[in-house]
Parts: sequence; C-alpha cells; structure tokens
Amino acid sequence: MKKRILIIGASGQIGTELTLYLRNIYGHNKVIASDIAEASAALMESGPFEILDAMDYDAIQDIVIGYEITDVYLMAAMLSATSEKFPMKAWDLNMTSLFNVLNLAKDGKIDKIFWPSSIAVFGPTTPKRDTPQRTVMEPSTVYGISKQTGERWCEYFNKRYGVDVRSLRYPGLISYKTQPGGGTTDYAIDIYHKALKHNKYISFLKEGTKLPMMFMDDAIRATVNIMLAASDDVKIRNSYNLSAMSFAPEEITASIQKHIPEFTIEYESDFRQAIADSWPQTIDDTAARQDWGWEDEVDLDEMTKIMIKNLKDV
Ligand code: NAD
Repeated sequence: MKKRILIIGASGQIGTELTLYLRNIYGHNKVIASDIAEASAALMESGPFEILDAMDYDAIQDIVIGYEITDVYLMAAMLSATSEKFPMKAWDLNMTSLFNVLNLAKDGKIDKIFWPSSIAVFGPTTPKRDTPQRTVMEPSTVYGISKQTGERWCEYFNKRYGVDVRSLRYPGLISYKTQPGGGTTDYAIDIYHKALKHNKYISFLKEGTKLPMMFMDDAIRATVNIMLAASDDVKIRNSYNLSAMSFAPEEITASIQKHIPEFTIEYESDFRQAIADSWPQTIDDTAARQDWGWEDEVDLDEMTKIMIKNLKDV
C-alpha cells in the first residue's frame, strides 16, 4: 500500500524538520503538514499544509480520509515549562490529541502512529545515572505525568487492539532551524544565539545541572528509523529510551569557548531548575540499539560546530 503521512503539530521545532526530511524520502505531496498555526515559509511552500486542531477528532478523521493517510506523526503537545503554567490545558491537549490518533488506528483508519514521549517520564526517585529502560517512574511535572500516562495508553492500545504505535523518549533536542517551544532544555539552544550576539549568557539552570540532550538530526533519524523498523523488532510499545550526549551549562559553555574564547556564562536559576532536577542525567538506551539498531552520530563538540556555523549567518 502506498504510504501517505500526516504530521500533526508540523509547525513546531521537531515537526518542521521532520516534515522536510520525510518529504525528501517519500515525495513532497505524500507528506501532509498540519498545525493550528502556520509554519515557516520553507515548510508551507514545500508541500500540502492544513490548519488542523489535534483536539478535534472529526477534523483529523476528515483529513485522514481525504488524503488517504496511512501513518500519523503526532507532534502537537504542550512542553514542560509551559505545562507548569497551564497544567489542566496541558493535560487536556497532551491526552486528547493522543486518544484521537490511537482511536483512529483502533478503528482501522490509519496503519501506524509515531508519538513522542520524553525523559520527563522519569522523576526524582528514578536512578539519575544510566537511567534504565524499565525503572522507578514517579514524574513530578504535569508534562511528565501526561507523557508517562500516554506511554501506558500506547502500550494498552497495542496489546489490546493491535494498534501499531511507536514511541521514543526524546532527550532535550537542539536545532538551529526553528525556535524551541517552551521546554526546560531550551537553554541549550538559546545559549548559542546569545553567544553569537552578546558573548554572554544568563542561564536559568544552575552550574552542574547535567541533562540528556541530542542534536535534531539524530532525533529525526531515530524517529524515521523506528517507523521503518519491522514490527516484530519494535518490542517495546510504551516508549524507548534514546541517548546521544549529556552535559551541564558549564560544559556547553566550554565547547562554545573553543570557537568564541571571550564567551561567558552567569547563573540565575528560575522555576525550570526544579523541573531539571527531577530528570535523569544520563540514559541507558541499550534496548533501542539492540532492537532496531539505533546509533547516535553527533557529540557535543560536533553539535557546537554545526550550531555556530549555521547561526552565524542568521
Ligand atoms: P513545539 O512546541 O515546538 O511544537 C508543537 C507544535 O504543536 C506547535 O507548532 C503548535 O502550534 C502545535 N500545536 C499546539 N496545539 C495544537 C493543537 N491543538 N492542534 C494542532 N497543533 C497544535 O514542540 P516540539 O519541540 O516540536 O515537540 C514535539 C513533540 O516532541 C512533543 O510531543 C514534545 O512533548 C516532544 N518532545 C520534545 C522535546 C524537545 O526538546 N523539543 C523533547 C522531548 C519530547
């Protein structure tokens, strides 16, 4: 059967790059981008775009039927820092949108779903180093609670109804093409912008706050690869741990100073410190490597080189 893809939340940080990547693989008209907000000109001009509310089951169904969609990537969500400001709205969006696509698959209207989870599923009682695939999970943020609950529902729909849903626990994702959407790891993007503009950055996380991170290209490859994997190889149907690098603000600073020696950092932590403190420092992603061949490619210094080169011209 011919593959036709719908991306919900395509105008965001990940959706933008994912849409362009998938259009290069499957053909521009085979990948339908959608969001409640318009996307960048590059994305809008590269193929079909629909205004679509992820909360509206009937509207999603109309697009799925109209375009004969086979696969849905659900990228619409409220992220960690914003969710702490609007807990009920976050819960509503993050859960209703997931139920909408899970039910479409259960009713046989789509074949396959990608839904991203996050390292936020872990909490203060989780082992912080080499956090295992299966471990204590007591998330303390509304975002983490919504992601952990989502994981349970993904596994339930897979086991009970045979829904082919695949998921990754993304770490903080770093990119230069689109602005981040209100997460706790956003500092690791902003720091590059500020380093180039002002030679100085005021960090909302304290020195020593080590968090798992990944360059966007690696995350997009992981996303596409888990969707291409044979169904039997995707053994975990809640969500896979995924890892590339971990660093604290002073380590990314040192990496930037290799290119901009006069760059300095100061620390003024805010409410996001408590969110970061509840998350793991490093992640064990052996299961993803063994089951469907995940391999990361970009480390901190390589990422810094790419970020500085591309942001210099902006
Ligand atoms: P983002 O905030 O940049 O983008 C989300 C997009 O969803 C936005 O374009 C927004 O307009 C859209 N949206 C919001 N409400 C909508 C609705 N009702 N209907 C349709 N679209 C709606 O987020 P992102 O960083 O691209 O994240 C995408 C997914 O990946 C989310 O599930 C997020 O939780 C997850 N994730 C992201 C990161 C990261 O570092 N960016 C890390 C872990 C997990």
